[in-house]
Amino acid sequence: MSESPIYLDHNATSPPHPLVLEAALPLITNHWGNTGSAHSLARAPHAVVEHARGQLAAWAGARPKDVVFCSGATEANNLVVLGAEGRVLCSATEHPSVLEAVQLRGGTVIPVDCHGRLDLACLEEELSQGAGLLSVLAANNETGVLQDTSAIYELTRAAGVPLHLDCAQLIGRHAAPECWDYMTVTGHKAGGLKGAGALLRRQGQALSARSHGGGQERGFRAGTLNPAPIASLGVVATLVHSPQVRIQRDRLEAACVALGAHVSGSGAPRLWNTCNVVFDGIQSDMLVVGLDLAGVCASAGSACASGAAKASGVLLAMGIQESALRLSLGWSTTAQDISRAIEAIQVVVARQRALGSESWQG
Ligand code: PLP
Repeated sequence: MSESPIYLDHNATSPPHPLVLEAALPLITNHWGNTGSAHSLARAPHAVVEHARGQLAAWAGARPKDVVFCSGATEANNLVVLGAEGRVLCSATEHPSVLEAVQLRGGTVIPVDCHGRLDLACLEEELSQGAGLLSVLAANNETGVLQDTSAIYELTRAAGVPLHLDCAQLIGRHAAPECWDYMTVTGHKAGGLKGAGALLRRQGQALSARSHGGGQERGFRAGTLNPAPIASLGVVATLVHSPQVRIQRDRLEAACVALGAHVSGSGAPRLWNTCNVVFDGIQSDMLVVGLDLAGVCASAGSACASGAAKASGVLLAMGIQESALRLSLGWSTTAQDISRAIEAIQVVVARQRALGSESWQG
């Protein structure tokens, strides 16, 4: 019997955590009522959604009534960026769901340094010209680079500009940042089900609805709620990564460095689960295909961009022209997985280098 694939693409999506399945399955099999109905079948799913709201609010340090559930981080990011009053700003390494929304609004993109951290001098200059919102990715999906959200918040607060943090990659892995005005989360990167995310806002921060209809979520997001993934998002808010994840990520990264790889964002604090490496002279899509054949699921960037085989905007913004291999670990990753992945990477890199030198020799 062939071994099951080693999954190292948790930043794209993750396998459902056992606690998530326990919480979510009854909502599919038995408690499938509409949370907005007035009869008895609505009671159980309604209670579960409110419990998840409380779990999420507790993680974020927010009030439950300031949680707006929606379909995922894309929708939450669009909700806050497209609804903001005035000029919108974001960093150059945002997820496309922020970057494209900011560009659609004619907003301003602020550069990052070679480690992927926001250029604070440039930010200060932009803030001094007035803005309605700054949106920043708290933990980058491609590199895992963590922004200094406290320092950024000091500047935005002084300028009177609300700060939105995209925490899609943070929840379930890391403590929530303390300083923010709006926050985006999603459940499926750290053991939750696809199909639920949320926008949180601090008391007093304005929000304008993008969808209109049944008045759900206090009128901020119309549409029938999806209790199973919402319950899973609540569970994810209670999870923390085991130190084992970092130990295994560091082992994997050290093995790549021993093969001559450069680590993107190595000069900045990074999420414990993410390894983004450039092997000079080797196209990362060739590595991804080779690893897939060897039973290792990896990515050449973010899931949205990987099908397009184009240079990563995140890496270009950091001054990295080459393509990179992204390996992202999670709750299900074992030490044995990493040992097998290291062996596969050694073989695939050696084969690509041999092929490269053959074609060089004509
Ligand atoms: N923001 C970040 C940082 C992400 O990594 C992702 C997922 O790729 C998203 C937003 C979009 O999340 P969702 O799939 O929940 O719409």
